[in-house]
Amino acid sequence: SIPLSFFAGIGGASNVGVLVKGSNYLETLSQAKIVVFDKTGTLTQGVFEVNGIHHSQLENEKLVEYAALAESASSHPISKSLQRAYGREIDRSRVSDIQEISGNGVTAVVDGHAVAAGNDKLMDRLGIPYIPCRSVGTIIHMAIDGRYAGHIVISDVVKPNARAAIQALKAAGVRRTVMLTGDASRVADHVAAELGIDQVCSQLLPAGKVEKVEELLRSKGQKEKLAFVGDGINDAPVLSRADIGIAMGAMGSDAAIEAADVVLMDDDPMKIAKAIKISRKCLGIVY
Ligand code: ADP
Ligand code: MG
Repeated sequence: SIPLSFFAGIGGASNVGVLVKGSNYLETLSQAKIVVFDKTGTLTQGVFEVNGIHHSQLENEKLVEYAALAESASSHPISKSLQRAYGREIDRSRVSDIQEISGNGVTAVVDGHAVAAGNDKLMDRLGIPYIPCRSVGTIIHMAIDGRYAGHIVISDVVKPNARAAIQALKAAGVRRTVMLTGDASRVADHVAAELGIDQVCSQLLPAGKVEKVEELLRSKGQKEKLAFVGDGINDAPVLSRADIGIAMGAMGSDAAIEAADVVLMDDDPMKIAKAIKISRKCLGIVY
């Protein structure tokens, strides 16, 4: 039978905006020693600002317009940011054949032109030579009708208390913090250094994130538990693979919330250490 204090623990966690889906997760949470994070939307706000546009064919506004139209069916934070930068209603009759390639970008037909918007990997995949970009930020390369058309540089900011959240985890006895991202290493290394994260793996496709988590699961001690924290559709497989999956509840995707064991209602990474502490306190009462 489940001790009553477990329910008290779940209640205590929900009071601080942490939804624990079952009493068994409190025990796993109390043993969390490795915490693995997704970057975009988890440690960063996932709200990008456009801070550079470089074109080789089209005017700036046109480039953003094509990007926003091509991205109009995506729920990725990058897409949302481009929609905001465009600032107008999307005329869906101008767009067809939309395809989103996770960890790469999107392709679509806009005004009868084949448009591709995404990272280096997408351009490589399509065989489009692109101009490497050294700007700090996430680069969205654009190709129109098979020709390179320029790029948009967007940048994201870390959540205000992300650094404090990492420190709180260390203070709570978490041995290792890891960040996994599909973004470029230039951006990833910068964020990890700013936050004091122990290990970074960048340019990962969704399957690569699962592999990395499996590798970490194999290398840890028996009593140590691994928590994964994510927000996106791409994160669902990793959330279920980890010993405990934690999802961002406010801005996170339904798929991530569904796959998770614990949901942070306000997306505040500081709540992870709080949840671990509550779980331990509750187990202390049990034993
Ligand atoms: P993260 O792991 O940081 O959450 P994702 O795995 O969602 O990031 O995406 C990894 C990279 O793939 C992004 O940094 C971007 O370069 C590219 N990408 C993914 N989705 C899109 C999209 N809808 N439009 C443009 N680029 C995208
Ligand atoms: Mg993400």
